[in-house]
Amino acid sequence: NLEIGIVGLPNVGKSTLFNAITKAGAEAANYPFCTIEPNVGVVEVPDNRIQVLTDMYHPKRTIPAVTRFVDIAGLVAGASKGEGLGNKFLSHIRETDAIAEVVRCFEDSNITHVSGSIDPVRDVDVINTELCLADIETTQKRADRIAKVAQCGDKTAKAEYDVLKKVLACLENGEPARKAGLTKDELPQVHDLNLLTLKPILYIANVAEDEASDPDSNPHVQALRAFAEKEGSEVVAVSAKIEAEIAELPDDEAQVFLEELGLPEAGLDKLIKASYAMLGLINFFTAGADEVRAWTIVKGTKAQKAAGKIHTDIERGFIRAEIVSYDDLIACGSEQAAKEKGLVRLEGKDYVMQDGDVTYFRFNV
Ligand code: GDP
Repeated sequence: NLEIGIVGLPNVGKSTLFNAITKAGAEAANYPFCTIEPNVGVVEVPDNRIQVLTDMYHPKRTIPAVTRFVDIAGLVAGASKGEGLGNKFLSHIRETDAIAEVVRCFEDSNITHVSGSIDPVRDVDVINTELCLADIETTQKRADRIAKVAQCGDKTAKAEYDVLKKVLACLENGEPARKAGLTKDELPQVHDLNLLTLKPILYIANVAEDEASDPDSNPHVQALRAFAEKEGSEVVAVSAKIEAEIAELPDDEAQVFLEELGLPEAGLDKLIKASYAMLGLINFFTAGADEVRAWTIVKGTKAQKAAGKIHTDIERGFIRAEIVSYDDLIACGSEQAAKEKGLVRLEGKDYVMQDGDVTYFRFNV
């Protein structure tokens, strides 16, 4: 499952958004495969196809793909030096796949801002500086440890050392490690360091309720977008307060509420979709009388590897995948009809999985 860490300065709306996420999420009991801690919210990945498949197969249970949001409180200026929750905070964030940074774009004189005014680009800079400082420490520590061996002519150590130096130069310049231009061969050298600034980042512009339908009219959002564009990051504008209200409503009422507000979809859905796009994720499905289930993989994953998502035994004993594309299956009306039309293909281990593939893996035990 995808895991996204929510960070941001105090009083920007993190808790409000996180509460909306936890309320919108189904009961933890529905996700036996997820361990859930108090700072984790689990939400279904919006995908209408899972409902259509459920109507076709009438399975005993349906399991959508989920995204885990982790509320990482305590980031303040100085966190990398152990201020606030300091190191504990940083170790939480290391485990996530991506970072979502909540940035305050709403004006409200009753709610103080830690720096006294609303300025998204400055706020982002404060947080990103902390992340860079933490990464400098991690990278420097590793470089110090292998320096001697590297200088004594050990080729493997030297290669790693050179990559660490490249990353350090970038970080010390105030740039995230993402910008170090590491090649495919260099990236694995720093993989185990779990660098914070190597993770993809997405900015959540938290706007006032009355701006939710047209957030781009807010000059703070415009400033944030201009900044993110230079960096190659995405901005998703939401109103945390509205999300919190939506989360309290049953699905059909939430839909009506969204329409009244002139919003095409809930902010959380927008957020999850943007995260999928950012990380290059797609879903494939397994479907049968027992269970219809969505599985998340990185685009480009091959069939045998995808089988491992379900169980390592299936990956190990992989023989073939029987695959019908979602669109073909729906057009035919049933799996049987798709088979008769020759649309259920037998694919080998190197087949590159496509979004929406409805799959049955054959394997040796
Ligand atoms: P956190 O410290 O980042 O977790 O921020 P909170 O979620 O606790 O929000 C801080 C305060 O800002 C709370 O009083 C929220 O009700 C308020 N707040 C959050 N989002 C909005 C918003 O969009 N508009 C307004 N006016 N207040 C908001």
